[in-house]
Amino acid sequence: MRLSRMGAVMSVAVLATSLAACGSSEKTVDQQAGTGDTTGALIGVTMPTRSSERWISDGDNLKKQLEALGYKVDLQYAEDKIPTQTQQLDNQITKGAKLLIIASIDGTAITTQLENAKANNIPVIAYDRLIRESPNVDYYATFDNFKVGVQQATSLLTGLKVLKEDGSAGEAKGPFNIELFAGSPDDNNATFFFNGAMSVLKPKIDDGTLVVKSKQTDFKTVAILRWQAKTAQDRMENLLTSTYRSGAKVDGVLSPYDGLSIGILSALKSNGYGTAAQPYPVVTGQDAEQASVKSIIRNEQYSTIYKDTRELAKTTVAMADAVLKGQTPQTNNTTDYDNGKKVVPSMLLESVIVDKANYKKELIDTGYYTESQLN
Ligand code: BGC
Repeated sequence: MRLSRMGAVMSVAVLATSLAACGSSEKTVDQQAGTGDTTGALIGVTMPTRSSERWISDGDNLKKQLEALGYKVDLQYAEDKIPTQTQQLDNQITKGAKLLIIASIDGTAITTQLENAKANNIPVIAYDRLIRESPNVDYYATFDNFKVGVQQATSLLTGLKVLKEDGSAGEAKGPFNIELFAGSPDDNNATFFFNGAMSVLKPKIDDGTLVVKSKQTDFKTVAILRWQAKTAQDRMENLLTSTYRSGAKVDGVLSPYDGLSIGILSALKSNGYGTAAQPYPVVTGQDAEQASVKSIIRNEQYSTIYKDTRELAKTTVAMADAVLKGQTPQTNNTTDYDNGKKVVPSMLLESVIVDKANYKKELIDTGYYTESQLN
């Protein structure tokens, strides 16, 4: 997914052409911006689903912060249904949105809507998830997704005591039985998370410290469509009955998202894990969702990755505001997010590993949650 030099030059050219095209037609965002008049402009925000807490916070934060700058906001959730999301985008374009902020369900499924946005000079910001296979994506705001995967794998190794908290070698040598899960194959982030995690785990699998007992290590085999908890629960059940029937135990599970971790832990529980004699394996996660932080406090889930959605909203709102005012938004990565048609200039934020030892400092002291939400 790294950008070739030629790709970089081409993507700059595409961007320049698209900006030039914007400047030459009537009633463009740039012209409106030129007058400094963006007050009351409508911004369309589309989020994938309300079934996960994080997207609710993302939507709320974006809406609140955009409205504080005087924008009108149309915020929509598609409950993980692609036709619903495409229809929401069509509606926002029809309603005269001046900019679209999109967290896509399937990053390749909204190409037609983006063509339409382009035809109407509506800039597009991909939110958290890269929109793929379209030249009509202007910017991307996200976290360092490869690093999120590295952090998940690192905390799996820390939980197994293969590594110490400071990253140096721990006392445990293994071999440990682990199983791998990945996110939805149509979400570009899922590959980044998995590749990041495997960059840490593969050497430990190769040297025998870790054993993937099911032998299922291929992204496609371990991916969970639409990040569904139930699908992960069923897969974990199947692994336990097919691979661990003989009495072998699971020591660790790479789970890329808190919702999946909850499904995985239920499958483990119904197979006898979670007792003093047979504690849960080390199970990772992502998003610091309340239910999972509570599970961490109860010594069930081991860790999660905290991504401050307030910061992501802030970054995206600053991008949107700059674009609408005809300025160039701040980005910090112009090489890694090739969407198949262009390298999308991106702003990557930092995430944090959270476990029982630091959840107070990271989640309560920062005001992300109140104490009473977690206890
Ligand atoms: C997001 C993760 C989230 C997952 C499931 C990904 O695109 O980056 O934060 O856990 O979707 O909603």
